[in-house]
Amino acid sequence: MKDIFTIALSKGRIFKETIPLLAHAGIEPVDDPETSRKLILDTNQADVKLVIIRATDVPTYVQYGAAEVGIAGKDVLMEHGGEGLYEPLDLEIARCKLMVAGPEGEPAEHGRLRIATKFVNCTKRYYAEQGKQVEMIKLYGSMELAPLVGLADRIVDVVDTGNTLKANGLMPLEHIADISSRLVVNKAAMKMKHARIRRFIDLMQEAVEKNRKDT
Ligand code: AMP
Repeated sequence: MKDIFTIALSKGRIFKETIPLLAHAGIEPVDDPETSRKLILDTNQADVKLVIIRATDVPTYVQYGAAEVGIAGKDVLMEHGGEGLYEPLDLEIARCKLMVAGPEGEPAEHGRLRIATKFVNCTKRYYAEQGKQVEMIKLYGSMELAPLVGLADRIVDVVDTGNTLKANGLMPLEHIADISSRLVVNKAAMKMKHARIRRFIDLMQEAVEKNRKDT
């Protein structure tokens, strides 16, 4: 079999914003993940495939070499820890902020602050750096609901326009990190397929610079 070059990414915003960057590298998917049920998408290049997976699974696929490279948000990478991965390039797409949010005013006194989030590792690190002990409640989505029903005092989530927070009577309170999508590369593949991956990184970097000039 010919040496396949596999790129892991998630559908939705990251996919949409990655397409023009891949096009600059001469890679065009032949299917649209929003309409196709295929998990492996062919491209105009016979030896380049895209695997469409959950955003949080992208670092894992790349770490184990199931994909040579991947595109994932910095939030997801911070949560994963980055083991087995190089992160050579900030793609400057899908920008948002990781923030603490909650209702206006001080939380009710009941001992430790309760924080609901899916970003458990990032949140623990953030509060540990401040020397604060908090109680973590792991959720998998719709974090905004937690303070409304008394499940938590605060949430940690990614915020873009802030509209979702506002619609639920919450506001951004503390900035944890600026987030954008990054190109990640499997460490072993970087050695074994160095020329190919280097060429890909260089083309993606050119595309990022072109994007920056155009906006
Ligand atoms: P917002 O524009 O702040 O109302 O964002 C809407 C929702 O989309 C938020 O609750 C986030 O969970 C999610 N979101 C926004 N931007 C991103 C991003 N770059 N990556 C992942 N999720 C995002």
